[in-house]
Amino acid sequence: MSATNFDIAIIGGGVIGLSVARALTGHQRSVAVIDAGHETPPATDAAAGMLAASFETAGDAVMADALYALGAQSLAAWPDFAAMLEDETGLALDYRDDGILAVAFEDGQATALKHSGDQLRARGGRASFLNGDEARQQEPALSDRVAAALYAPGDAQVDPRKVLIALRAAFCKNAGTLFGQRVEQVGCSTTGYRLALSNGERLEAKSVVLASGAAATQLIAGLPPPPITPVKGEALAVDSAENKFRHVIRCPAQPALPYLCPKAGGRMIIGATEIAGRRDAGVDDASIRKLRAGAADVVPAVRDWPEIERWSGLRPATPDGGPILGRDRRGPEGVFLALGHYRNGILLAPACATALAREILGGDAAGQSPLTHLQPFRPERFVSSTAEDEDG
Ligand SMILES: Cc1cc2nc3c(=O)[nH]c(=O)nc-3n(C[C@H](O)[C@H](O)[C@H](O)COP(=O)(O)OP(=O)(O)OC[C@H]3O[C@@H](n4cnc5c(N)ncnc54)[C@H](O)[C@@H]3O)c2cc1C
Repeated sequence: MSATNFDIAIIGGGVIGLSVARALTGHQRSVAVIDAGHETPPATDAAAGMLAASFETAGDAVMADALYALGAQSLAAWPDFAAMLEDETGLALDYRDDGILAVAFEDGQATALKHSGDQLRARGGRASFLNGDEARQQEPALSDRVAAALYAPGDAQVDPRKVLIALRAAFCKNAGTLFGQRVEQVGCSTTGYRLALSNGERLEAKSVVLASGAAATQLIAGLPPPPITPVKGEALAVDSAENKFRHVIRCPAQPALPYLCPKAGGRMIIGATEIAGRRDAGVDDASIRKLRAGAADVVPAVRDWPEIERWSGLRPATPDGGPILGRDRRGPEGVFLALGHYRNGILLAPACATALAREILGGDAAGQSPLTHLQPFRPERFVSSTAEDEDG
């Protein structure tokens, strides 16, 4: 086989594309990952790394239940995913399972948290409701204004930038081929697909995985356009070196919901804005001021902590809040989608990658997803505007 022929070409080397590549390792398939880098602000580099299965549901009741089940499954997979990646690469991922505290200042917010806790327990999750003093016992730097909190002890966090570096290293160590280029176009070839890269290079692959995050454009003829819209998120990191934070803290909505996410060496991430439709990489001073002020209401010491860095990234959002996974049966054979992970790509990566790899390796000739719990996330659930037009 020549160097430019592969069994599987993955377009996009964020956490999703590289996790799919990892799940394909050891199955005697040659895999290429093609990644355009920072041409559009990637989401993975920008993420805080919360593995917040207990809090991150979206959409209607059916989608929210499905997302909780997928998130809980992925959260449970994270300890092994992180440990194996660390063993293989010798790189620390800063995985921590100290849980997440969502705090409230006043009665209305506390009632909403109680309701979330009841919902979570009904779905099989774990949560306890704390008064202000109990919350401060967990995290002494919390303001006296914190009147209540919902504590989800099973939630965790990881450092997404370290995960990305380790995934890249493991992929290359396992004979994967990484191309730092943009895929301009995907056409058909006699054996599958021909990918045209931005430097003029051509690759051939039997199957293609589209994991291009918020930049999911229509690269592949015959594939209904995936309904992905970017939701920009801005965040900052401050130096909290003197503080021994253990938990991720989610603040009351105002209207964005700031959070504090402690990382190794006292680095504290404060995120994040949600701005639909913006594709630029700029970071507004006003956004950073608001995030810092929201975080300082909950942890007053934030006011004194020096800023280390600020950044932005584009979350890949879908109309119903769920990811888009598997082969779109209205499109060509051998093309698989791993898109639309919106606010939770870090959390969902292990479970989605395993499921997708099974579908890619097992084929879907029977017309069934190998994992029935992926049914709510199938691409065909969205009716494309072209199909709507044809239907009249
Ligand atoms: C501020 C912020 C905070 C977040 N916090 C969390 C969190 O705490 N927990 C959590 O689970 N999730 C979080 N997320 C969401 C998470 O980051 C995303 O869901 C996840 O990173 C999506 O991964 P991805 O691989 O699909 O996309 P990306 O990381 O964007 O990667 C896609 C890659 O594809 C490449 N690409 C695109 N088009 C092409 C092409 N034509 N050819 C070649 N390459 C291409 C891009 O260059 C990019 O590198 C956050 C996101 C943001 C912005």
